[in-house]
Amino acid sequence: MTKDIRDLDLTELSEELKTLGQPSFRAKQIWQWLWQKGARSFDEMTNLSKDLRSVLADNFTFHKTEIITSQYSNDGTIKVVFELHDGNKIEGVLIPSMSRTTACVSSQVGCSLDCKFCATGYLKRSRNLTAAEIFDQVWQINELAEKHHGKRLDNIVYMGMGEPLLNYANVLRSVNIITSAEGLGMSPTRLTLSTAGIAKMIVKLADDGVRTNLALSLHSANNAKRSAIMPINDSNNLEMLAESLAYWYDKTGNRPTLEYTVIAGVNDGVEEEKELATFARKFPSKINLIEYNPITLADYQPTSRLDAFADSLIAKKLIVNVRRSRGKDIDAACGQLALKS
Ligand code: SF4
Repeated sequence: MTKDIRDLDLTELSEELKTLGQPSFRAKQIWQWLWQKGARSFDEMTNLSKDLRSVLADNFTFHKTEIITSQYSNDGTIKVVFELHDGNKIEGVLIPSMSRTTACVSSQVGCSLDCKFCATGYLKRSRNLTAAEIFDQVWQINELAEKHHGKRLDNIVYMGMGEPLLNYANVLRSVNIITSAEGLGMSPTRLTLSTAGIAKMIVKLADDGVRTNLALSLHSANNAKRSAIMPINDSNNLEMLAESLAYWYDKTGNRPTLEYTVIAGVNDGVEEEKELATFARKFPSKINLIEYNPITLADYQPTSRLDAFADSLIAKKLIVNVRRSRGKDIDAACGQLALKS
């Protein structure tokens, strides 16, 4: 089986081209087509001769990611289903707002972590995405942003399907391609990796010098309650997460964000406000309170205490943002990605 050309790094690509008798500058030329011009086939590489394009087609595969469905919310959010070369499907979302234009991208097909409030958690994880498949989501969601909103993406969140830190190498490679001068050249501060909480991988991110933003899907600051909605907490409890996030802050100087979806009767009481405040003070952090979006697979409801919950944390001098849902009418909001369309 031939290799997918986009699985190669620049050195490997140069080596492969050398064995095909090509001069070294060709690797850079092809690299630009792959990662700066978003080519989806060898035929698009018009500054290469037809002969070279056919040599490439004979020696490499070029796996494509195609949009097969798009849904448009009345708030401007667009959710798309991508079909991968092997027939697997994933979802990505464009979320335009006054202040920024965000792509929410997936990192795995399905998810193995079974968070009870999340529709993706009810899909079996079938495989990790490659860096190219993550890049393709960014590229095509940017095209949608330009076409429908006249703006380029300026924010990318790895908050779609899957746990990014369980697909560490490919996620990091995609971050490098998106942020490097030889790729899309975006600032790493425009990217956010969101994790359900894999403590040792948070430490690894800090040690590897990754300078994106980091968000922890917290949703409860009490071990027993968190384990009940996020089974990953059994092996990565709050103490381990606090330690790893403190380490992240020490290494990067960047406050992690604590994502907290407020669910009626689950984590929205006065007791939970106190638990969250205590946890958030263990290291410099900021809190995003997220309105819950019901899914048919689980019997949870949004709270009526969202504002009260926020006010109490603000009164405790914590940094708090309230995130109202976007794209709810098309099941594109946080926790709703389930390949239903
Ligand atoms: S919230 Fe994230 S980690 Fe949890 S099941 Fe959903 S996609 Fe997986």
